[in-house]
Amino acid sequence: MAISTVELAVPARKTIALVAHDNMKEELLEWVGAHREELAKHALIGTGTTGGLVAEKIGLPVERLRSGPLGGDQQIGGRISEGEVDVLLFFWDPLEPQPHDPDIKALLRIAVVWNIPVACNRASADFIMSSPFMSTDYVRRVPSHIR
Ligand code: PGA
Repeated sequence: MAISTVELAVPARKTIALVAHDNMKEELLEWVGAHREELAKHALIGTGTTGGLVAEKIGLPVERLRSGPLGGDQQIGGRISEGEVDVLLFFWDPLEPQPHDPDIKALLRIAVVWNIPVACNRASADFIMSSPFMSTDYVRRVPSHIR
Protein backbone atom coordinates (compact mmCIF):
# COMPACT_ATOMS: atom_id res chain seq x y z
CA MET A 1 0.00 0.00 0.00
CA ALA A 2 1.46 3.34 -1.00
CA ILE A 3 1.54 5.99 1.71
CA SER A 4 0.16 9.39 0.75
CA THR A 5 2.40 12.13 2.08
CA VAL A 6 2.46 15.79 2.98
CA GLU A 7 5.34 18.16 3.60
CA LEU A 8 6.50 18.88 7.14
CA ALA A 9 8.83 21.80 7.89
CA VAL A 10 11.78 20.69 10.00
CA PRO A 11 13.51 23.62 11.74
CA ALA A 12 17.26 24.23 11.88
CA ARG A 13 17.16 23.28 15.56
CA LYS A 14 16.37 19.60 15.43
CA THR A 15 15.07 17.20 18.01
CA ILE A 16 17.51 14.29 18.13
CA ALA A 17 16.60 11.01 19.83
CA LEU A 18 19.44 8.99 21.38
CA VAL A 19 19.20 5.28 22.16
CA ALA A 20 22.08 2.88 22.82
CA HIS A 21 22.01 -0.72 23.96
CA ASP A 22 24.19 -1.57 26.92
CA ASN A 23 27.19 -2.82 24.91
CA MET A 24 26.99 0.27 22.70
CA LYS A 25 26.61 2.94 25.36
CA GLU A 26 30.31 3.66 25.64
CA GLU A 27 30.58 4.16 21.89
CA LEU A 28 27.57 6.47 21.80
CA LEU A 29 28.91 8.48 24.75
CA GLU A 30 32.27 8.83 23.04
CA TRP A 31 30.53 9.95 19.86
CA VAL A 32 28.30 12.42 21.69
CA GLY A 33 31.37 13.81 23.49
CA ALA A 34 33.12 14.33 20.16
CA HIS A 35 30.06 16.19 18.77
CA ARG A 36 29.12 18.02 21.95
CA GLU A 37 29.29 21.49 20.45
CA GLU A 38 27.03 20.70 17.47
CA LEU A 39 24.63 18.66 19.57
CA ALA A 40 24.22 21.54 22.03
CA LYS A 41 22.46 23.47 19.24
CA HIS A 42 19.67 20.89 19.15
CA ALA A 43 17.13 19.39 21.56
CA LEU A 44 17.95 15.90 22.80
CA ILE A 45 15.65 13.17 24.02
CA GLY A 46 16.70 9.68 24.98
CA THR A 47 15.75 6.41 26.55
CA GLY A 48 16.22 6.42 30.32
CA THR A 49 19.70 5.04 30.84
CA THR A 50 21.21 6.42 27.64
CA GLY A 51 19.73 9.87 28.30
CA GLY A 52 20.91 9.82 31.90
CA LEU A 53 24.47 8.93 30.91
CA VAL A 54 24.62 11.63 28.24
CA ALA A 55 23.40 14.23 30.75
CA GLU A 56 25.73 13.05 33.50
CA LYS A 57 28.92 12.32 31.57
CA ILE A 58 28.71 14.86 28.74
CA GLY A 59 26.68 17.55 30.48
CA LEU A 60 24.10 18.06 27.74
CA PRO A 61 20.42 18.46 28.68
CA VAL A 62 18.39 15.43 27.65
CA GLU A 63 14.70 14.76 28.09
CA ARG A 64 14.71 11.27 29.52
CA LEU A 65 11.95 8.82 28.72
CA ARG A 66 11.53 5.30 30.13
CA SER A 67 14.36 2.85 29.88
CA GLY A 68 14.25 1.08 26.50
CA PRO A 69 13.16 -2.37 27.74
CA LEU A 70 10.46 -0.71 29.90
CA GLY A 71 8.81 1.12 27.03
CA GLY A 72 11.29 3.87 26.16
CA ASP A 73 11.72 2.66 22.59
CA GLN A 74 7.95 2.73 22.18
CA GLN A 75 7.77 6.24 23.64
CA ILE A 76 10.33 7.44 21.10
CA GLY A 77 8.34 5.70 18.36
CA GLY A 78 5.25 7.55 19.60
CA ARG A 79 7.08 10.88 19.48
CA ILE A 80 8.23 10.10 15.94
CA SER A 81 4.66 9.42 14.86
CA GLU A 82 3.64 12.76 16.39
CA GLY A 83 6.22 14.45 14.15
CA GLU A 84 8.30 15.44 17.18
CA VAL A 85 11.60 13.71 16.37
CA ASP A 86 13.78 14.84 13.47
CA VAL A 87 16.77 12.48 13.76
CA LEU A 88 17.20 9.09 15.42
CA LEU A 89 20.62 7.94 16.58
CA PHE A 90 20.05 4.34 17.58
CA PHE A 91 23.20 2.36 18.40
CA TRP A 92 21.62 -1.08 18.68
CA ASP A 93 23.71 -4.09 19.55
CA PRO A 94 24.29 -6.36 16.53
CA LEU A 95 25.89 -9.15 18.59
CA GLU A 96 23.54 -9.78 21.53
CA PRO A 97 19.84 -10.64 21.59
CA GLN A 98 17.65 -8.11 23.41
CA PRO A 99 14.54 -8.85 25.49
CA HIS A 100 12.69 -6.00 23.80
CA ASP A 101 13.47 -7.05 20.25
CA PRO A 102 9.90 -6.38 19.00
CA ASP A 103 10.13 -2.80 20.32
CA ILE A 104 13.44 -2.29 18.52
CA LYS A 105 11.99 -3.50 15.26
CA ALA A 106 8.94 -1.28 15.78
CA LEU A 107 11.12 1.78 16.45
CA LEU A 108 13.18 1.21 13.32
CA ARG A 109 10.03 0.64 11.30
CA ILE A 110 8.23 3.76 12.47
CA ALA A 111 11.36 5.85 11.79
CA VAL A 112 11.24 4.67 8.18
CA VAL A 113 7.48 5.27 7.92
CA TRP A 114 7.97 8.86 9.14
CA ASN A 115 10.98 9.41 6.89
CA ILE A 116 13.44 10.51 9.52
CA PRO A 117 17.21 10.07 9.16
CA VAL A 118 18.42 7.13 11.27
CA ALA A 119 21.97 6.26 12.23
CA CYS A 120 22.59 2.82 13.68
CA ASN A 121 26.35 3.15 13.94
CA ARG A 122 29.05 5.72 14.37
CA ALA A 123 29.92 6.27 10.72
CA SER A 124 26.26 6.90 9.84
CA ALA A 125 25.98 9.29 12.77
CA ASP A 126 29.06 11.16 11.47
CA PHE A 127 27.52 11.42 8.02
CA ILE A 128 24.22 12.73 9.42
CA MET A 129 25.90 15.26 11.71
CA SER A 130 28.03 16.61 8.87
CA SER A 131 25.00 17.14 6.63
CA PRO A 132 24.20 20.79 5.84
CA PHE A 133 20.59 19.98 6.71
CA MET A 134 21.57 19.74 10.37
CA SER A 135 21.94 23.51 10.52
CA THR A 136 19.24 24.59 8.07
CA ASP A 137 15.51 24.14 7.66
CA TYR A 138 14.48 21.02 5.81
CA VAL A 139 11.23 19.85 4.28
CA ARG A 140 10.42 16.25 5.11
CA ARG A 141 7.66 14.26 3.46
CA VAL A 142 5.57 12.50 6.09
CA PRO A 143 2.47 10.33 5.92
CA SER A 144 -0.69 12.34 5.53
CA HIS A 145 -3.00 11.86 8.52
CA ILE A 146 -6.04 11.22 6.38
CA ARG A 147 -6.45 7.99 4.49
P1 PGA B 1 18.27 2.48 27.92
O1 PGA B 1 17.44 1.81 26.77
O2 PGA B 1 18.86 3.73 27.40
O3 PGA B 1 17.29 2.75 29.04
O4 PGA B 1 19.31 1.47 28.33
C1 PGA B 1 18.06 1.52 25.55
C2 PGA B 1 17.43 0.32 24.93
O5 PGA B 1 17.77 -0.79 25.35
O6 PGA B 1 16.57 0.44 24.06
